Amino acid sequence: MEMEKDDYGAMQAEMRRFFAAGTTLDAGFRKAKLRGLASAIRRREGDILAALHADLAKPPCEAYITEIAESIDAAEYYAARAAAFSRPRRVWPGRTILPARCKVYPEPFGLALVLSPWNYPFQLSLIPLICGVAAGNCAVLKPSRQAPATGRILRELVEECFDSGHCRVVLDAPEAPGAAAEQTATALLAEAWDFIFYTGSPRVGHIIMESAARHLTPVCLELGGKSPVIVSRDADLAVAARRIAWGKLLNAGQTCVAPDYLLADSAILEELVARIQEEFARMLGPAPLQSPDYGRIVSPAAFDRLCALAERCGVGLIADREILKIAPVIFRTDLASPALEDEIFGPLLPAIPYDSLDAALAYIRANPKPLACYLFTRDKAVEKRVLRELSFGGGCINDVALQASGSHLPFGGVGKSGMGRYHGREGFDLFSNLKSVVHQWPTLDLPLRYPPYGKGRLGWLRRLLGG
Ligand code: NAD
Repeated sequence: MEMEKDDYGAMQAEMRRFFAAGTTLDAGFRKAKLRGLASAIRRREGDILAALHADLAKPPCEAYITEIAESIDAAEYYAARAAAFSRPRRVWPGRTILPARCKVYPEPFGLALVLSPWNYPFQLSLIPLICGVAAGNCAVLKPSRQAPATGRILRELVEECFDSGHCRVVLDAPEAPGAAAEQTATALLAEAWDFIFYTGSPRVGHIIMESAARHLTPVCLELGGKSPVIVSRDADLAVAARRIAWGKLLNAGQTCVAPDYLLADSAILEELVARIQEEFARMLGPAPLQSPDYGRIVSPAAFDRLCALAERCGVGLIADREILKIAPVIFRTDLASPALEDEIFGPLLPAIPYDSLDAALAYIRANPKPLACYLFTRDKAVEKRVLRELSFGGGCINDVALQASGSHLPFGGVGKSGMGRYHGREGFDLFSNLKSVVHQWPTLDLPLRYPPYGKGRLGWLRRLLGG
């Protein structure tokens, strides 16, 4: 049963009561809930794979690695650490506060809203929810309406594993004719939350932040953008080609950290392009649209957008609108190409030659800070330059996409590609108010700070505090 707009207030009231009862403050409770979720995901693996296939034709191996294994890993990672991350953290008081002691007490914000996208609809919904639960929050998840089968599984899992006051999944109502798209998200955003976690496009990121500003609600925005791959002339081209091709094939290029465009040294560009083409053919075979190891484009609208982009770039596609599949294609172009305007978010890979690394770095710096950046090189000096001179959310040296994987390495964007980090302890802290407290001695009272200061006090203070 879908919820009416007016019910959201009642839902929030129930969840706030649950939160106020203090149950979620018990780290043992959180651990048990997260362990339960991990077991439920394992038990429902077949249904989850079927849903991801229905929504995006995700091949089971790909879906298992990028959605199921990631989610189980996150649930277990935070279950194992919920208690340790919750403990008060001693902080050195510094000269100005000594001899008091300082501690940081992590406490949950309260009620969090998680809005997730369709491209990795399972893990990009569950991992933020897991971080929120690990930190002791109650959470409402609103998955994307463009991945409806996964949305239904998410709701079943959350209903099975959590009390309705603790976590909920709200799904979009089936669209009535003429009804405004995104009315569920809009109605949810009209309510006051204690934290909002959003993953999706930068365009909607603006809307989320404006809504949050009305209530001064803190937000984490996990956005997208154009993530470059730099290939230096000294790179191992065979390995680079294989890894870049793999990163672009994942979810048919609809991955926030997919290689968006290549900047390759002009000395090796032709060879690299040929090798990536060979890898596409090797991985998907002679009939790529029929390959069971390749997913589909999410919707006819997204399919048409990619076809129109290819046409503007003068690139021919092997594509079938009936099954929403587009074969991966790499093409040589230049910086004036329409392919360099917006995030591609599909299996088109423009490759641009550079004559000097300076020029390549200057181009990236002149554009919004990317979510991801990748460098293929064996030259430590090149690696050092790129890491020093470019700002980006995260990336890899000699690989692609892996920085988004696993529970330990913090993940997030910078500038237009987002704000806030999750995964690792950062994911726990993101959903926490880090309450700073000075524990002063009850009776020991140094007179130095109190007036009248008198002659000579400044000298004492300088010696004690000025170093
Ligand atoms: P989207 O912004 O269309 O939708 C994401 C969520 O926002 C959905 O839950 C949707 O219901 C909600 N939403 C959409 N329009 C809304 C509106 N007008 N008002 C309120 N809520 C609204 O994003 P998408 O198309 O699903 O995802 C693609 C984008 O997401 C790409 O730019 C991609 O790079 C980015 N992305 C980023 C990450 C990351 O981790 N940084 C991960 C995946 C995708």
